[in-house]
Amino acid sequence: MSQADATVVQLPEDERPTKWYNILADLPEPLPPPKDPETGPSRLKALPELLLAECLRQENSTQRWIDIPQEIQDLYVQAGRPRPLIRAARLEKRLGTPAHLYYKTEFYSPTGSHKVNTALAQAWYAKREGYERVTTETGAGQWGTALAYAASLVDLKTTIYWVRAVHDWKTQRRHFMKLYGATVHASPSSETNVGRALLKGQPDHPGSLGIAVSEGLEDARRDDRAIYCLGSVLNHVLLHQTVIGLETQRQFERIGVEPDLMVSSLGGGSNFGGFTLPFFADAFRGKEIRFIAAQSAAAPNLQGEYRYDFADHAELTPMLKMYTLGHKTDLRPVRGDGLRYHGCSPILSLLRHLGYIDTIAYPEDERHVFERARQFVQTEGFLPAPESAYSIACAIDEALKCKETGEAKVIAFNVSGHGFMDMEGYAQVLGL
Ligand SMILES: *Cc1c(COP(=O)(O)O)cnc(C)c1O
Repeated sequence: MSQADATVVQLPEDERPTKWYNILADLPEPLPPPKDPETGPSRLKALPELLLAECLRQENSTQRWIDIPQEIQDLYVQAGRPRPLIRAARLEKRLGTPAHLYYKTEFYSPTGSHKVNTALAQAWYAKREGYERVTTETGAGQWGTALAYAASLVDLKTTIYWVRAVHDWKTQRRHFMKLYGATVHASPSSETNVGRALLKGQPDHPGSLGIAVSEGLEDARRDDRAIYCLGSVLNHVLLHQTVIGLETQRQFERIGVEPDLMVSSLGGGSNFGGFTLPFFADAFRGKEIRFIAAQSAAAPNLQGEYRYDFADHAELTPMLKMYTLGHKTDLRPVRGDGLRYHGCSPILSLLRHLGYIDTIAYPEDERHVFERARQFVQTEGFLPAPESAYSIACAIDEALKCKETGEAKVIAFNVSGHGFMDMEGYAQVLGL
């Protein structure tokens, strides 16, 4: 069998990425920097208290390649990297499409998602910088679990503020986080000023990601031994996630195939960015390659306004230039809860602004998306996370367009996580 016919494309040990790719070195125009609001204390000056020193350095770096410390490389290997790239041959056949479909298998993750790629890096840096505890927010729960796991491996404590509307029903994920030793609070909580103020007005407040970010920040700020970690949106998070795209790039090279179209789900942008950014350097040089971000109509942030906005509800963060729906906007719940955030990463927002990224927002009832996920389950056998189902739906929709036009496009999509703890959502939407 020739390499091009291989169904499962592995990556040999000696081709593993040893550096992350920093797109800030190659952007067609400079990224608009974060800025302070017109009134109030300087958030920019407070940044060193809010972020890990190494992550802040990476956030502003324009160095094209950034070494992955050997210890983090070892953690990646233990977490199952490199992950295979699989040709969805059975799915293609079932769809009757001339398109060639390939998917990256981020669902082979100890906690269930791609988020371990940045969690391991951030936890390792936090340990090296002498912290004893990390704090964070989580929405769907995937990021909280990933950080609890990574912190546990490097012997750090974790405190998680979890959007109450999700915290209260995802009992399995909650137990999973606690098994790693994490302390988990439903947010808004009575642990912080932000939380207490909101609870006073509404004792059963459902919470939001923006509120949970504010709580995590406030908690870390008042404890010198604690530092806050963010799981998406920021430049350094996308940087860490480029291991996904770098592996994918080398896997395609091995089989002599080049993608025409790359698709992934987009909430804050970390899995989409990690998967696609290494391919943008070619796009800037004029190569024909399209990128589509699959979103939920509950949070179509790429269809919002491109302007400066806060990353959190309580306005503790600097303002970021991004596509945003507004940092105080209430977003309705969906099963793909990880896609529910008001803003998109500044890097991807700029690329969208420059016309490099297309987007589609799927209806909030999620029936179409979950039906597509069912087709994937029944042909490829893997159960995707609800968020990943958006990526699959978009890839299948595009493959069916190829069936109409007869084009044998190569479509690559990222399956950002598994759905083993999300069966309830599937059962409800599909009526199982
Ligand atoms: C968090 C999450 C997402 C969405 O977040 P991004 O930062 O946009 O990637 C998508 N898929 C899974 C499995 C997630 O856990």
